[in-house]
Amino acid sequence: MRQPMVAGNWKMNGTLAEARELIEGIKAGIAEVKKAEVAVCPPFVYLALVQAGLQGSGVAWGGQDVSTQASGAYTGEIAGHMLTDFGCKYVIIGHSERRTYHGESDALVAEKYQAALNAGLMPIFCIGETLEERESGITEAVVARQVDAVIDHCGVDALSKGVIAYEPVWAIGTGKTATPEQAQDVHAFIRARVAAHSTAVADRVRVLYGGSMKPGNAAELMAKPDIDGGLIGGASLKADDFLGICTAAND
Ligand code: PEP
Repeated sequence: MRQPMVAGNWKMNGTLAEARELIEGIKAGIAEVKKAEVAVCPPFVYLALVQAGLQGSGVAWGGQDVSTQASGAYTGEIAGHMLTDFGCKYVIIGHSERRTYHGESDALVAEKYQAALNAGLMPIFCIGETLEERESGITEAVVARQVDAVIDHCGVDALSKGVIAYEPVWAIGTGKTATPEQAQDVHAFIRARVAAHSTAVADRVRVLYGGSMKPGNAAELMAKPDIDGGLIGGASLKADDFLGICTAAND
């Protein structure tokens, strides 16, 4: 059985005071979360605060990106070992906002996946199609290409050391959630794609759904056999909403 997981991606939101309040809010309600593994990914500069606040709470944390490089003259970049220095277990890799606004290619994302593993981090590996790609009928081709890039560069076993997040780009931050059936179809396709290389890895790897997941739609999404939890953007910024999604995995 795969343990469900709910991860919050705070993106570039909040102030120090708001981050503190959010941490306290999550801690106050975490005892109600019975099944899911819970993680939050704050902006880098709040990692020390999150580490101090969440240590021992059962909630894990991670970065939102990682450099392909281990150290050196790379202004503005953050190396994997810097994230582990601050207790990170996870790091988000290949989020669509990085692919879109920072031109991250499949090849670069695969390099980041390997850099994360080298540092002892578990990648939360984001994939997903744009609206145009869905309407052109190439959703499966797009996610296959994205998954294959990591398998080709890192080997299929690398996928069992991370988590996949299927995030249709048209559903991110738009309020347009994929239906449970639409999401399940793609999740099943992703698992089958991995299974073509290794059924053991395919059985083990968690595939999260991301894209306007909220307390009101989380349970029906997570009830699908290949949806193992959620990667949450907007709703992870309010402790009650985030916890509502985490507890939806209780059933
Ligand atoms: C995300 O950006 O990873 C995400 C899922 O965002 P939202 O929940 O706001 O759609």
